[in-house]
Amino acid sequence: MKKDNLYNLTPDNLTAAMKIAGEHAYRARQISEWLYQKDVSDVGLMSNLPAALREKLLAGWSTDLPKAEEVKTGADGTEKWVLRLATNDRKTGKPHRIECVLMPSVDRYTLCVSSQVGCSLDCTFCATATMGFRRNLDPSEILGQVIHARKLLAEKRSRLSNIVFMGMGEPLLNFDNLCTALTNLTAKEAFGMSPTRITVSTSGVVTGLKELAERFQVGIAISLNAPTGALREEIMPKVACKYDLDSLLKAAKIVGQTRRKPVTFEYVLLAGVTDRTDQAKDLVKLLSGIRSKVNLIPFNPFQGSKFRRPEPQNVLKFQKVLWDASIPAYIRWSHGLDVSAACGQLAARG
Ligand code: SF4
Repeated sequence: MKKDNLYNLTPDNLTAAMKIAGEHAYRARQISEWLYQKDVSDVGLMSNLPAALREKLLAGWSTDLPKAEEVKTGADGTEKWVLRLATNDRKTGKPHRIECVLMPSVDRYTLCVSSQVGCSLDCTFCATATMGFRRNLDPSEILGQVIHARKLLAEKRSRLSNIVFMGMGEPLLNFDNLCTALTNLTAKEAFGMSPTRITVSTSGVVTGLKELAERFQVGIAISLNAPTGALREEIMPKVACKYDLDSLLKAAKIVGQTRRKPVTFEYVLLAGVTDRTDQAKDLVKLLSGIRSKVNLIPFNPFQGSKFRRPEPQNVLKFQKVLWDASIPAYIRWSHGLDVSAACGQLAARG
């Protein structure tokens, strides 16, 4: 029988598991310290646990994490990691693989994590979509990416400051595991990160958005990518047909009210498709009545894609229309373009 993974348990679940095993509740706290504060996953090394408990843990639980397989380092210092999971793909027989990206900037390191192997949503400008959907990641596989980055940074005497759920997959289509991962990232007994240092990005899945905003004070970014429903359905066919623009904007308003701060929208600029100034004006109209902030992401090309990156002057013109309408708009030139680590370029083959 497959053993469940200790990293899949929230602190409350771990305490309950200890009680069921006839152990004191404080043992859960000790185990959490090893797993999350000392980054020790080898139960045999958990020296303050009695030998009998270590045996019980080894017999009943796994602490396996994804294994680092390959790294590509970009000229700007961005590291794209390929991690191998313990399962194999049914079609190819090869191990499932995911990618995560560690991005340095002047004062921080940000980790972009994946939430699924592949993605089911077929956004036309995204390399992950070309993989199709393989499976959801469990919390241990999401947290394993964070643990991997923390260990790398500890060697450099640095610390991970921010996490963005913008890697492979749609986080809200893996809602329960996303919530467990967020619980462990923010719980003081586990990673103890401030939720304000975590951002979950959704392609526009409305189901779960309100619950996410209510349960976690994490940043939420909504990928809008087009100023009209029709164009959105063309470039993001699956998600935009299921959740129309009206319902998405209504949900975005609720997120804004819950947060009492501007809603963050992501907008991918595709040359000749979504980057015209008349479209920027339509976007202004669309967002009227919502306190918004817009991140403009010039398209990052990948092999086989039919889209092109816009000219820098068109990006600036688009941005100006938004600023002239008092909508803060920031251009996000992606990190790691030269090693296919940029936004929309992740596609680990397996
Ligand atoms: S953009 Fe996000 S939601 Fe769309 S296919 Fe890529 S990973 Fe999936």
